[in-house]
Amino acid sequence: MFDLRLDEAADWIISRGYARVALQFPEGLKSKAIEVSRRLSERTGTSFFIVGDPCYGACDIFEYRGTADALVHFGHSPIPSQGDDPDVMYVEAFYEGDIGSHVSAIADSLPHKVGLMATVQYVPGIKRAREVLEAAGKEVLVSGGDARILYPGQALGCNSSAMPGEAEHILFIGEGDFHPLAAALGTDVEVTVLNPITGEHRRIADLKDRLLRRRFAAIERARSAQRYLIVVCSKKGQDRTALADSVIRKAVSAGKEAYKVRMTEIGPDALSVYADADVYVITGCPRIALDDSARYSKPVLTPPEAEIALGLRNWDDYIIDEIRSPQSGLK
Ligand code: SF4
Repeated sequence: MFDLRLDEAADWIISRGYARVALQFPEGLKSKAIEVSRRLSERTGTSFFIVGDPCYGACDIFEYRGTADALVHFGHSPIPSQGDDPDVMYVEAFYEGDIGSHVSAIADSLPHKVGLMATVQYVPGIKRAREVLEAAGKEVLVSGGDARILYPGQALGCNSSAMPGEAEHILFIGEGDFHPLAAALGTDVEVTVLNPITGEHRRIADLKDRLLRRRFAAIERARSAQRYLIVVCSKKGQDRTALADSVIRKAVSAGKEAYKVRMTEIGPDALSVYADADVYVITGCPRIALDDSARYSKPVLTPPEAEIALGLRNWDDYIIDEIRSPQSGLK
């Protein structure tokens, strides 16, 4: 169902003569890791190991140097702004099914000007969706993103820069809620999510409303906080140290105490030891605050949300925290 391009990966490894290769998978593909390792080993005679640490994006590329000659990273596309490494091969694991009938089934319910977006596995479906929608008389819009985005229409959970600005409606192709929710938070246009495997589709407005209510509650809890812990993630594509320093300055100017902690894996256990902090501000992956905050005992805010809690931004000016390309903010 998902194309792991094992023949291509084997040819790449053989042609370059790598003796030791690391294999990195996101959580959703780890169940395939042993089988992939076995098949690549049979084809190439190379020594492989599987990277066991959690991985949620290409922002978190394993540092293979020292333990391997090369890395095959499954499940994500490169993030162009992070630079190119000829010893890393990305296998996006594109979905191989045809989504045409699912798109056709909802075409009549969509307005005339439809923007298309997708998570990386379903980027090939954008072309198919465009064909079907144009055949149904729709005007279809697909935009390129910033330097963090490789494919037109591709969405990351932290980056919706490929949102087509002129669309009357966004059709988002993907599983799960977080990516379309992140996209919906960045626009007033309605978003329909189409599950490309099951054909299930739904509008995201209610979910967006519920998420905003939860965020409002977290910000309100943080308003009386005195001690801010600003969390920097040291993963290559999540390190926003300059942004963290800016939040610290703002918190101190507002009469708060502010401290900075730097870590690789941000999680409830890792932060619970800082028991005398009143609020955590996460400058790493925005998903931690927006999607996972129920797992934490203290309010967990994004940097723009911290500005609201500090009285520097109005709730009416709420913006989603995104990690844009270096030119637009990631330092
Ligand atoms: Fe995905 Fe978060 Fe990394 Fe962005 S920062 S690519 S949302 S894991």
